[in-house]
Amino acid sequence: MTLSDTEHYGSPSITLKGERVRSKGEKQIADFLFQKGIKYTYEDPAKTNISAFTKKISRPDFYLPEHKVYVEFWGLVDHKDQELRMKYNEQKHLKEREYQANGIRVLSIYPWNLDDLEGAFKAEYRKVMKKDLVLGPISEGMVRALPISPLLTNMLSISTIQNASSLPLSEVQVVFTPYYFIKYDCFVQEAFMYQKINLNSTGLLVIDANQGNLVDSITEEGDIPRLPRTGHFTNCVGLEQKETPRAKLSEQVTFSQIDALLAKITEEEATQIARNEIAKNLHRTHTYTTKRGVTHSHTIRASPERVRIKLAELVNIPIVTGIFAYRDKTYRRTIQAVTGKVLEDDFNYCYAPTRHFEKAVLICERCGNLACHSHGKNCNVCGLALCQQDVIQKGLIFKKYYCNQHTPP
Ligand SMILES: [Zn+2]
Ligand SMILES: [Zn+2]
Ligand SMILES: [Zn+2]
Repeated sequence: MTLSDTEHYGSPSITLKGERVRSKGEKQIADFLFQKGIKYTYEDPAKTNISAFTKKISRPDFYLPEHKVYVEFWGLVDHKDQELRMKYNEQKHLKEREYQANGIRVLSIYPWNLDDLEGAFKAEYRKVMKKDLVLGPISEGMVRALPISPLLTNMLSISTIQNASSLPLSEVQVVFTPYYFIKYDCFVQEAFMYQKINLNSTGLLVIDANQGNLVDSITEEGDIPRLPRTGHFTNCVGLEQKETPRAKLSEQVTFSQIDALLAKITEEEATQIARNEIAKNLHRTHTYTTKRGVTHSHTIRASPERVRIKLAELVNIPIVTGIFAYRDKTYRRTIQAVTGKVLEDDFNYCYAPTRHFEKAVLICERCGNLACHSHGKNCNVCGLALCQQDVIQKGLIFKKYYCNQHTPP
């Protein structure tokens, strides 16, 4: 028995994204994914290279690249034509067996799920993926995020480089990046040499919700865990989050790219990471010297169970990257844009071939490389900034430096 697509699935529909899909059900799924900011591809063989899709089984309807999972809409499982329904269910079993045998994860959506698609989708996601679906911050076209500092333009200018005016800012990108802010306290009491000793700490950890790693911490009270304490993120505490329309980010800076990263870990996973980090890095050693001069020592440690989570909050922080182009080189300066803390800076270091960690002071006007005080000079005649490989040195005791056009014979 062969049936046309129309008989199979009902009337073709156009999604919000503009794709033609085979049925209203598929359209509803596509539009749900789109509105929730979940990236998908529709029956796109080019985007995947799983060889498991043999000729025998057709590909599932949707692929979610950020989650590495497929979505299949089983549109005909309850079709009123009995013969068709049986044939369809037979195919369905065959497909499901093939998916399972090949380790392909598929979220199954049924016609009766369409009434509460979000609820059904989340439940199915939890069942198949063994974790909660965490939606990205850009969903519904809005970004729940901290505001961008209006001083950003100054922060992006390269004031540390002598001839920075030759360096045009070619592009500015903003990526709203999700972080979990986790407040904890921890109290452990043990007995040591007939005394009660305490380990006690209260503070805040910041965990990158996209990468799943700890990026910053601050101790409010008590013992200090040995964790990074840069203030790059903890200094956002207390600032108010806003629903920021994407078009209204800032008047001062033009953003060539505005994006948002997905939170890939759940709140539960984040708090577990926080507990483990505290347990690993919070300890204190007590020593006690007896009257006879014998010294005893004891290290008191935290354990994950002793770390109490007081608050966990997902905050999107705008991370802004300014890209400067000069000659054929590009340099990036990445800034936490709420407070202007520089996270990464290509301008920090001299590009001498030996790659030492000396602060760059000029940019070579011949090749575009950065140079420090000892590897960068100015031409004695024209003042051109030059790196070590482009400068010509004359004199033994009183050294002078020239560009190739002003070198004396
Ligand atoms: Zn050079
Ligand atoms: Zn150098
Ligand atoms: Zn010169």
